[in-house]
Amino acid sequence: MPRLPAAVIGDAHRNSIAWETLESLVDVGNRMAGQDGEEAAAEVVAEAFEGASLQDVTMESFEIPGWWRGATTLSLPDHDQHYGDPHQLFALPGTPAGEVETGIVDVGHGTPEEFDEADVEGALVLASSKTPDDYDRWLHRREKYHEAADRGAAGFLFRNHVEGCLPPTGGVSDADGPGPIPAAGVSRELGHRLVRYCERGEVSGSLDIDCRNEMTTSQNVSARIGPETDQEVLVTAHYDAHDIAEGAEDNGAGSALVAEVGRLLASVEDDLEVGVRCVTFGAEEMGLRGSRHMVGVADLDGIKAVVNLDGIGGSRELGVDVHGFDGLADAFEAASEDLDTPIEVKDDFVTHSDHWPFVRAGVPGLMASC
Ligand SMILES: [Zn+2]
Repeated sequence: MPRLPAAVIGDAHRNSIAWETLESLVDVGNRMAGQDGEEAAAEVVAEAFEGASLQDVTMESFEIPGWWRGATTLSLPDHDQHYGDPHQLFALPGTPAGEVETGIVDVGHGTPEEFDEADVEGALVLASSKTPDDYDRWLHRREKYHEAADRGAAGFLFRNHVEGCLPPTGGVSDADGPGPIPAAGVSRELGHRLVRYCERGEVSGSLDIDCRNEMTTSQNVSARIGPETDQEVLVTAHYDAHDIAEGAEDNGAGSALVAEVGRLLASVEDDLEVGVRCVTFGAEEMGLRGSRHMVGVADLDGIKAVVNLDGIGGSRELGVDVHGFDGLADAFEAASEDLDTPIEVKDDFVTHSDHWPFVRAGVPGLMASC
């Protein structure tokens, strides 16, 4: 197995370039897809690619349904209570605006079985962000939201299972516009209060969401290194984030690392056997828009594999989810052995990041985590 020269490994350990890229991304502020900050972040990544002397630095735009946050309130007329502070609740990105006044129905964790037992027609559905520990797979927010909408619910309240007066966030938009029903995240503390009220009897709630939904543009930023080969390996991450968060771990760190991997590989460019394309996607948080765009326009036969970095840097344990592609599993198991470095190779299906549109199209793709 080819190895990087000691000088390159030493450089990787000692330089602060990736950290500075991460700081520049975070300091942009709001990097919400399709908004000014996302475009500014794309420029940060492009500058990092150029600073690393990568070739063909390219910015490619595509249309997305944009979303701009306004005020969100929840009133409980039976209890004469009114919530509208950001530590209590806020709208989920991609929700439509609107006012819903109806009964609140608690569906617990929002598993399909719990939905089967509840009557959510016309209701304001309350579901936890947690998946039960004994459930056989992780249930994503979108799945609970669409289950509610498909069963005729009028609105959706996503209650955080993590304490600390923080509502959860996460996109709910559809392919070409806002999601079907108004949706807000509520803090664990307010969520538990709603659960208690529901246990005591019928509770009506009035959810009022103000926001702007209109088409806008996002962009992917890419660059390449190494020989012109028929197939390239893609090293990818998304650089967009949520408007109410720093987006450091998810996923400024992944974008900074893509640029750093590119910089280090560029120093051994002549030794590479295959071309490598560094890609940072826009609008991942709004429904994997950037990666879906690339899958729609790229020559997929020319992609040997996709190595996707998302939510990276939170742990010292390196793992890869290989989605049933034996060639990827073999490569990482061999690297783990050869480099005497533990890498957990898992065959789970991870559907919520940018490798997924490629995997669905048959391109070997993995999600790396650490
Ligand atoms: Zn992410």
